[in-house]
Amino acid sequence: MAKLESKVPSGPLADKWRKHKTEIKLVNPANKRKYEVIVVGAGLAGSSCAATLAELGYKVKNFVFHDSPRRAHSIAAQGGINAAKNYQNDGDSVHRLFYDTLKGGDYRAREANVHRLAEVSVNIIDQCAAQGVPFAREYGGLLANRSFGGAQVSRTFYARGQTGQQLLLGAYSALSRMVGAGGVELHTNSEMLDLVVVDGHAKGIIVRDLVTGAITRHSADAVVLATGGYGNVFNLSTYARGSNATAIWRAYKRGACLANPCYTQIHPTCIPVSGDYQSKLTLMSESLRNDGRIWVPKKKEDAKKNPADIPEADRDYYLERIYPSFGNLAPRDVSSRAAMRMCDEGRGVGETGLGVYLDFADAIKRLGEPAVRERYGNLFDIYHEITAENAYKTPMRIFPAVHYTMGGLWVDYNLMSNIPGLFVLGEANFSDHGANRLGASALMQGLADGYFVIPYTIGDYLAGQKPGSRPAPDRAEFKQAEESVMGMNSRLLANKGRQPVSHFHKRLGKIMWEHCGMARTKAGLEAALQKIPALREEFHATVKVPGSADTLNQSLEQAGRVADFIELGELLCRDALTREESCGGHFREEYQWPDGECKRDDEKFGHVAAWEYQGEGKAPLRNAEPLNYEFTKMSVRSYK
Ligand SMILES: Cc1cc2nc3c(=O)[nH]c(=O)nc-3n(C[C@H](O)[C@H](O)[C@H](O)COP(=O)(O)OP(=O)(O)OC[C@H]3O[C@@H](n4cnc5c(N)ncnc54)[C@H](O)[C@@H]3O)c2cc1C
Repeated sequence: MAKLESKVPSGPLADKWRKHKTEIKLVNPANKRKYEVIVVGAGLAGSSCAATLAELGYKVKNFVFHDSPRRAHSIAAQGGINAAKNYQNDGDSVHRLFYDTLKGGDYRAREANVHRLAEVSVNIIDQCAAQGVPFAREYGGLLANRSFGGAQVSRTFYARGQTGQQLLLGAYSALSRMVGAGGVELHTNSEMLDLVVVDGHAKGIIVRDLVTGAITRHSADAVVLATGGYGNVFNLSTYARGSNATAIWRAYKRGACLANPCYTQIHPTCIPVSGDYQSKLTLMSESLRNDGRIWVPKKKEDAKKNPADIPEADRDYYLERIYPSFGNLAPRDVSSRAAMRMCDEGRGVGETGLGVYLDFADAIKRLGEPAVRERYGNLFDIYHEITAENAYKTPMRIFPAVHYTMGGLWVDYNLMSNIPGLFVLGEANFSDHGANRLGASALMQGLADGYFVIPYTIGDYLAGQKPGSRPAPDRAEFKQAEESVMGMNSRLLANKGRQPVSHFHKRLGKIMWEHCGMARTKAGLEAALQKIPALREEFHATVKVPGSADTLNQSLEQAGRVADFIELGELLCRDALTREESCGGHFREEYQWPDGECKRDDEKFGHVAAWEYQGEGKAPLRNAEPLNYEFTKMSVRSYK
């Protein structure tokens, strides 16, 4: 059984992080250059981490499967990043951001982690502004804010609808500076395919060069994974098509626990699915809900009518009606389920009936079209590109889609997994969002982890490792991991099947969406747990992977990733089945209040479920880390 010690420091909540920083071990500046740290990933979490560790003096090797760090999925983030600056003087504070985030996560996150996140949020904005990130500004020069779901204050900093891109360019410049200065050795087109564990500690990785196919071994004193989320297990999602779970899944198979895999975020504001051959879904940022009003017709008969022909009196602004305090800014899980209920009642719009309107007519009347264009122009352009509709003239059609995974590798307060020396940052870990992430808090967490947490906590681990003691890559553990990677690739290539990899990914996605999507039931999850192992067998028997291993081969890359998704999908369903309650993004139909809201069971499930791999063909072990709420009361979440 895995040892899950959260290592949350003692003392008052607001003092824990400050106290911890003064108590953890340090590495002497002259010794830092004797340590090598592998960082996998250069999205916001990875590039901020690699740059900062190198600035501190550590030798960093940074690996990304992309051809440039600038292609990380973080570049897609649109709406903004939260911080408790209270520039609006509207009552925000560190405590309020902490409380909103904890409540938003339906009381399934660690109090101390969330408080630290709220504390360092203010430093992130200063750091990024100093790097030159062009945040939107008010007329007087102060940084501007807008509102996001689950909050009654405006605390979201933004750069039009391209906040992730601008933040990533900031972090990438910090990273490039350290690449130029020799502190970071950057390996692009390099995919980590296994973790190497030596004497119980993470000490290296196995990497495939995606251009030449060469497999190489890399040893280090510590390994950091910042490899993003696994939402593409559903095939269709708002994620970049390349986002995958391979790094964390292979670390799981080496002993790292995977926490709360079933906590998936379904975003209410995406462009509806339009056909069978679609390869991804597109987000319309939550920021649009600041000014857009969501509605469906009151009468089923009106669902197919042109929206312009439906009079005001026949429209149901259902979020404003059901959740008057938060209205259109109710949190994502709540808004998504409400949209689904409207469609289930037959009031969904668009050809498929799986859509609701997001209408800017009132905002345009109130602010004028130029002001709306100024705030959201690029999002309206994206919508037009995809649907050929002009959202300045007719309401957008939106529908929920998979968008973020709150689950991930289990980490303690220091962001270290249960394998000593293996740290996990950003979306790849499970740490701060509980069962539902509030909008604009993923960027905050990724940058908090990379710029402000790991630079302290990794020292605590490295101080206990003798400088220069990292294992040589010719050790048996490296050889075994390398052989395992090569063996898997050879088996996939040798298969005499006929079906392309995408065929299996699509089928997995359908099973996941149907049985483990927005609403889950015992019977549905049990059915999925029959179908997925059968799909896995079929995949290994009939998949066709053309080409060879010693050159660029995207089919081979995809095959490995989809093989991992199939296994991860099974764990996700298992986790969802055993969590017999509804909380945040995990909605079990059997556990709901009469008004359709989540019914939690704090007594039985007020814990983190951390799954431990037991070997091929064996059921994984479910460990539990209790969530002790010392400073906040686990209460029923209400946005009414
Ligand atoms: C459309 C969209 C809009 C969003 N908007 C917002 C927003 O407005 N505000 C907000 O807070 N959040 C937003 N999010 C969520 C947020 O963008 C992500 O959660 C966050 O950017 C993830 O950052 P990351 O650094 O953890 O991972 P990523 O940015 O996904 O980076 C992962 C990195 O890991 C590398 N990698 C992965 N696996 C391997 C491997 N095996 N080997 C080598 N390298 C590997 C990749 O190359 C990449 O560099 C949005 C998400 C989407 C999809």
